[in-house]
Amino acid sequence: SPTLPRPERPRIFVVANQKGGVGKTTTTVNLAHALAMGGLNVLVVDTDPQGNASTALGVPHSPGTKGTYEVLMEGIGIIEHAQPSPHSPNLHVLPAAIDLAAAELELVNMRGREHRMRDAIMQYIDESGVDYIFFDCPPSLGLLTLNALVASTEILVPIQTEYYALEGVTQLMRTIQRVKGNLNDSIELSTILLTMYDSRTNLSREVADEVRKHFPTQTLSNEIPRSVRIAEAPSFQQTVLNYQPKSPGAVAYLAAAKELAERVAVTK
Ligand code: ADP
Ligand code: MG
Repeated sequence: SPTLPRPERPRIFVVANQKGGVGKTTTTVNLAHALAMGGLNVLVVDTDPQGNASTALGVPHSPGTKGTYEVLMEGIGIIEHAQPSPHSPNLHVLPAAIDLAAAELELVNMRGREHRMRDAIMQYIDESGVDYIFFDCPPSLGLLTLNALVASTEILVPIQTEYYALEGVTQLMRTIQRVKGNLNDSIELSTILLTMYDSRTNLSREVADEVRKHFPTQTLSNEIPRSVRIAEAPSFQQTVLNYQPKSPGAVAYLAAAKELAERVAVTK
């Protein structure tokens, strides 16, 4: 039986931030892995054509690999192309191959272009007994990210503790308001995770304080430290949780996942 609490209903997170390199993929794979280690059933939908989440979770995504592209474009069920991650028996990944880049344009003229992922997710929830779903998004706000925003109920924003961190969030908040008004009124920015935190610098502490002031209920109390172990793990097709399980980065992601699972979804 799971050591982490099972949510009443499946929780569906889109990990979003319009800035690149802020730790979206790293956060997705480590939280997903940690929740699966806690005994929960987890699906990661790799929505970035780069396929970095697939890599870190040990799932092949060479060109031609079936995954997110087929689900979006051909209406194939997620369950048919989701692959088990070697990291944990209850962790599955819908892989993204580079072919997914074409979907951004090909979707434009398709019927229900913003809802295609949501339809697939609803079906997967019925078929699978999944507890947590995470979408790892590309940094752009195209139809791939939009499909993930429409399919999700919660937004998780990783924020790098550096200058201008809040600027990207302001932009994202505007996007969320548009999505709420038009396509998905049940989505909420529920969770902020501070990443690449360096407690030795004033800057990290100041940015963290500012984020907490703006988002007091959403910001997790556990921060993720800047750590070379976290950055090294994907080149071994691993997350930091199996690459260096005792490292501060692994401990921090385990704590953040526990915090996420133990609090109810916060709505503002
Ligand atoms: P995004 O998906 O937002 O583009 P990534 O998760 O790929 O961002 O992270 C960007 C880079 O920063 C990657 O090289 C990653 O390994 C590294 N990185 C992410 N989190 C940390 C961390 N806590 N400490 C050190 N490096 C990190
Ligand atoms: Mg990424």
